[in-house]
Amino acid sequence: MKQTIVDYNRCKHCTKCIARKACKTKALFQIDPEEAPAVDTKLCYGCGKCVLECPSDALTVKDL
Ligand code: SF4
Ligand code: SF4
Repeated sequence: MKQTIVDYNRCKHCTKCIARKACKTKALFQIDPEEAPAVDTKLCYGCGKCVLECPSDALTVKDL
């Protein structure tokens, strides 16, 4: 099963990946604006669209 992994060291908290058009299922969410986003593993299906939106290379799709 493919899912996105967030690299917390690379994330700059820009929120671009959370924009609705990036993730159709809204699998990425942010609780604290100062923190990196989290991935709802029930909603993410590894499409990789959010990876293209991240300017910091903080998102990677992995086969888990
Ligand atoms: S890989 Fe696709 S479904 Fe998963 S968080 Fe990124 S845009 Fe959403
Ligand atoms: S687009 Fe990348 S740098 Fe910006 S919040 Fe998302 S994971 Fe972090």
